[in-house]
Amino acid sequence: MKVAVFSSKPYDKTHLENANQGQHEFTFFEPHLDEQTAALSAGFDAVCCFVNDTLSAEVIDTLANNQVQLIALRCAGFNNVDLAQAEKRGLTVARVPEYSPYAVAEHAVALAMSLNRNLHRAHNRVRENDYSLHGLLGFDMHGKTVGVIGTGKIGIAFIRIMVGFGCRVICSDPYPNPEAEHAGAQYVSLDTLWSDSDIISLHCPLVPATRHLINQDSLSQMKPGVMLLNTSRGALIDTQAVIDALKTGQIGYLGLDVYEEEADLFFEDNSNEILRDDTFARLLTFKNVMITGHQAFFTNEALSAIARVTIENLSGFAEGKPERICLVSTS
Ligand code: NAD
Repeated sequence: MKVAVFSSKPYDKTHLENANQGQHEFTFFEPHLDEQTAALSAGFDAVCCFVNDTLSAEVIDTLANNQVQLIALRCAGFNNVDLAQAEKRGLTVARVPEYSPYAVAEHAVALAMSLNRNLHRAHNRVRENDYSLHGLLGFDMHGKTVGVIGTGKIGIAFIRIMVGFGCRVICSDPYPNPEAEHAGAQYVSLDTLWSDSDIISLHCPLVPATRHLINQDSLSQMKPGVMLLNTSRGALIDTQAVIDALKTGQIGYLGLDVYEEEADLFFEDNSNEILRDDTFARLLTFKNVMITGHQAFFTNEALSAIARVTIENLSGFAEGKPERICLVSTS
């Protein structure tokens, strides 16, 4: 297959070429796939995309007109793809449903622990020869109640770590997973999860029902000083409502690996540019907010798995073996 790889970075190239072993012909494009760059797909059988590529109806029309047959996502989430249009235009959409749930779950824990023990502030202080402890007071994780929204692969990995810390873990998912209960968590109503949790971590996909799940109303039901973690998708959170809750102290700690408007910011070195996003700039002013730039997936193990499954998807498609492709279902 001739494959146009969009949003590609040197590490994507290394891992994909290692896994490829000459089976497919890759052309690497640094820009995102969007309305402006979709024309670059001419002459390719497949496009290979990541989380911030735009696969709108318009982009999909251009891909289809250029005879592209396959969209191979090198990620699990597919909220950036107009699936109805892909189906209408006969494009197959494949993804990497699981690469390392541990990578993302462990990153959520890293955010929680850094925020709890103020590691970001402590690190800077020690470098300034300042060993004072004021402002660094943390809390024991042991005995705290952790609420997990979404008990799929990442949610389960996160639950296991939290149970290991000695936390009481409660969770919510429209499709309960017996593994969550085996791991020691208990399903509760969303209302109970909001009111009982000291820490809330989001591990559900972004779908219409979960957009702005964290909003003024849900925030008002949470314990004052709650810790909120989002390593899932930015738009699960109404960012303005979260800023208001940080200002009143309703949110005590906020750990984000994703942001609603991240497409224009993340994965790029903008250090010589002016930050124009006022909402994001306001988030950066809080001492109890820690933000990473969508790096939760970024481990060696995860990148190798993403490359391996992407090659498998391309080969399964090329050989007409749908059973070997991780298809995105439209249902
Ligand atoms: P998964 O499909 O295994 O699990 C998702 C779970 O969410 C499922 O159990 C599903 O039933 C549940 N769910 C659906 N709607 C829900 C709702 N309204 N309320 C509560 N739960 C709901 O997915 P996963 O592999 O565990 O990934 C979870 C999310 O993590 C992905 O959708 C993706 O957005 C995000 N993710 C982020 C990164 C990163 O680098 N930050 C990397 C991979 C995945």
